[in-house]
Amino acid sequence: MRVAVIGAGIAGLATAAGLAKAGAGVEVFERGPRDAVPGAGISLFPNSRAALGSMGFLEAYDQVPYGPCAGTRTVMRRPSGRVAFSLPPWARPQVRMLHRNDLREFLLKCCNGIPIHWDTAVTVTDDGGPSGSAGITTADGRVSSWDLVIAADGLRSITRDFLGLDPGLRYAGYAAWRGVTRGPADTGGMAGEDWGNRQRFGTVPLADGRVYWFAVTSVEAGRSAASDGLATEKEAAAREFAGWYPAARSLIAQTDESEVLRHDLYDLASHSRRFIAAGWRLPATRRMP
Ligand SMILES: Cc1cc2nc3c(=O)[nH]c(=O)nc-3n(C[C@H](O)[C@H](O)[C@H](O)COP(=O)(O)OP(=O)(O)OC[C@H]3O[C@@H](n4cnc5c(N)ncnc54)[C@H](O)[C@@H]3O)c2cc1C
Repeated sequence: MRVAVIGAGIAGLATAAGLAKAGAGVEVFERGPRDAVPGAGISLFPNSRAALGSMGFLEAYDQVPYGPCAGTRTVMRRPSGRVAFSLPPWARPQVRMLHRNDLREFLLKCCNGIPIHWDTAVTVTDDGGPSGSAGITTADGRVSSWDLVIAADGLRSITRDFLGLDPGLRYAGYAAWRGVTRGPADTGGMAGEDWGNRQRFGTVPLADGRVYWFAVTSVEAGRSAASDGLATEKEAAAREFAGWYPAARSLIAQTDESEVLRHDLYDLASHSRRFIAAGWRLPATRRMP
């Protein structure tokens, strides 16, 4: 079976690796460059390990360095720094805390041998109908046919839109700053997510001693440092969390300005409809003009 995967994010790379391992002839199409560095960190819960294990990548995954869970107390603090809640050691989630770039490099290793076409944006131009080959087209007009096309092109998927399955997006009501400290930073042996009034702050130690942090605030969509009259997003995060406990402020201070990301958070407005339901045939095969 020949499979095209659109998108080399976490979903696209993991799917490509799993399908190739199962014997499919897979190629990945990614509009971004190979050397793009995905920002900040990520916490992976045990279901991701189970999924990677079911695809045969457990041994390799267990070699990826992750943050020090064992010696770290998982807490929820108040903005003052007072610990409101501390998980007993036996109840700690088996979370692995990684830099997103390490996760990406691991997934790329799992995709060894799979052609990945970087800098190649594609669109689905033929859904293939119930039994035909699906077609994709690159920006410079190259067309190819596939038994299966996997749309792993993210939250703003144009493929989902093309197939008429896009439920639209819903603003979650908050924006997040994220960053990784420029060097090892002291967390006082604690990690977790702290809750204030319309604000949250997360502390996530990484394997090399650096710390991934996130700072979330409930605010209308579209705001930015510039719209608030500030020079950088680091300044905006520092101002928003100026009243928080010193370790939180210190993590922001120990991060380079260029490494501070800010995003408004969106979800799908509702569940996406299924492409092909049992017994239902597509009314007509769709082709782009
Ligand atoms: C602030 C924040 C914090 C998060 N923290 C966590 C966490 O701690 N743990 C966790 O499990 N999850 C977390 N998530 C969620 C997680 O990051 C996402 O679920 C995941 O990154 C989605 O991956 P994806 O591959 O589906 O999409 P994406 O990462 O968006 O990848 C889609 C890819 O498709 C490419 N693409 C798009 N269109 C085309 C096209 N036409 N042609 C070719 N390529 C195309 C894009 O360039 C991109 O590389 C967080 C999300 C946010 C926003």
